[in-house]
Amino acid sequence: MLEATLPTCEAERLAQLLSFQVLDTEPEQSFDDLTHMASVICATPIALVSLVDSERQWFKSHRGLDATETPRRVAFCSHAILRPHEVFMVPDARQDPRFADNPLVTGPPHVIFYAGAPIVTPEGLALGTLCVIDHRPRQLDTQQLMMLRTLADQVMAQLELRRKCLELQDLSGKLVEANIELQDFTSFAAHDLHEPLNNLVSLGELMRHDLGDNPGPRMLENLSMMVSSARRMKQLISDLLELSRTSSRELDFERVELDGCVATVRQRLSSRIEKTGAVITCDPLPAVQGDETLLTQMLQNLVANALKFVADGTPRVHVTCERDGARTIFGVRDNGIGIAADQVERIFKPFRRLHGRGEYEGSGIGLTVARKAVLRHGGELWVESEPDRGSHFRFTLPGVPGGSPLPTAGQAARPSPA
Ligand code: ADP
Repeated sequence: MLEATLPTCEAERLAQLLSFQVLDTEPEQSFDDLTHMASVICATPIALVSLVDSERQWFKSHRGLDATETPRRVAFCSHAILRPHEVFMVPDARQDPRFADNPLVTGPPHVIFYAGAPIVTPEGLALGTLCVIDHRPRQLDTQQLMMLRTLADQVMAQLELRRKCLELQDLSGKLVEANIELQDFTSFAAHDLHEPLNNLVSLGELMRHDLGDNPGPRMLENLSMMVSSARRMKQLISDLLELSRTSSRELDFERVELDGCVATVRQRLSSRIEKTGAVITCDPLPAVQGDETLLTQMLQNLVANALKFVADGTPRVHVTCERDGARTIFGVRDNGIGIAADQVERIFKPFRRLHGRGEYEGSGIGLTVARKAVLRHGGELWVESEPDRGSHFRFTLPGVPGGSPLPTAGQAARPSPA
């Protein structure tokens, strides 16, 4: 018996083979389909996807043979991989001095006929073969040889696909891990940062109270600054948590009465509405399919801004609902300070504000949250505005049932339910 020599780039070839992480894995239908086709096309009882490891050949698919591996020393495939671009054929192993006394020929599985097409990487390295075996002397015709070659290329393509899938799985695992870390951080921020900040605010207020009228104006001023800084930090953390929840929370889609959401918003903002004497009106709103918590939060952010960004006079806010062909467009329109055309996209980015905190309070998160909420419903949110002429924040929610009775544009407004 003649043992095959090692291929010239053996170390590189083995490294490539290992990189596919396929050795000793479970059988897979896609490879079994290819050996099935090979055995039918070549009319042989045995067809194998054999990968040549350092000391063995291991079968990713073995049709008509129980063994899952044999020593490399005796493997026909060890010879086949020496010429990556040729099909290696042994018509009658008993007559071939290289194989006549090979234990695979003299004993089970009695390999008499062998034909193997190397499985070749794009770099030209043969990882193994797609081979067919018979127990009697045989030949393959040109077409069968060509098909065997083509199927071997398909084995290579499957191996590459498999590797890509593994890489994607790995990547998505890392993303899940990163997401979990982010959520851990979120709950850390929620619990561990909120508590000391609360203490700081309370202690500051207590000190201010205890000091009564005695402290100098400087001390009082410092104390007030400390309390308002801590309050602002608390607000920032709450806003960041809200943003993270809007992005990652699982949505609970159900029938949502938007009228009800507006009523909730009015309730939550009641002290600001009272303080400013704001007038809020609302078109009749339909029910939509969506997540009530997220939709209410989104409307609240838009209405709160409409109440806030007013120069002087009474804030007038109108919740709109109009048909535009097949679309329903909702909106929150105000009579506020408006926005310059070149700023209308910038304001949807996190922490982007067009005014200092001295002018208008805020953290620059509200519109980011609102847009994310609409996006998660498959809709869009944009603004139509002009400086000093008010703003109209408009959004679509594709879940609106087509047949609901909707007002047309310009229909008379009515006060929203309180
Ligand atoms: P915040 O209200 O905390 O500043 P937002 O993300 O809600 O953050 O808004 C970002 C910026 O967009 C605001 O700072 C403001 O400059 C501008 N803006 C938002 N809503 C309005 C509005 N209704 N009228 C005018 N400007 C607005």
